[in-house]
Amino acid sequence: MRDKLAEIGARLDNIYYCPHHPHAELKAFREDCNCRKPRTGLIDLALRDFDIDMTRSYVVGDRYVDIDFAKRASLAGVLVKTGYGMGEIEYKSEGNPVPEYMAEDLLDAVKWILEREGTVGEKSP
Ligand SMILES: [Zn+2]
Repeated sequence: MRDKLAEIGARLDNIYYCPHHPHAELKAFREDCNCRKPRTGLIDLALRDFDIDMTRSYVVGDRYVDIDFAKRASLAGVLVKTGYGMGEIEYKSEGNPVPEYMAEDLLDAVKWILEREGTVGEKSP
């Protein structure tokens, strides 16, 4: 993924992931930890590593757990209709937090974020 992004001049500052699962077969990974969504442990790690402007940060995901995660972290949540998104909207929207935006796909999510940030048309460095 990093190589593909580098080909077009983009980069990821870091990748955070949770190796745990409450029912993992391997005992070493069997944990209901703070980094599993919707808990915000992974954002806490990123905040430790980087000076992140949380007022201009977003969560983009295809599940309501991602939107719940966004709300808990006081971030704007964007639900994409791709992946699990349409199924989530169809069967799980009741009782779940409302996303700031429902995007057709990741590109639509990016466009919405750029518009909201007022950076449409600006050239990246
Ligand atoms: Zn974890």
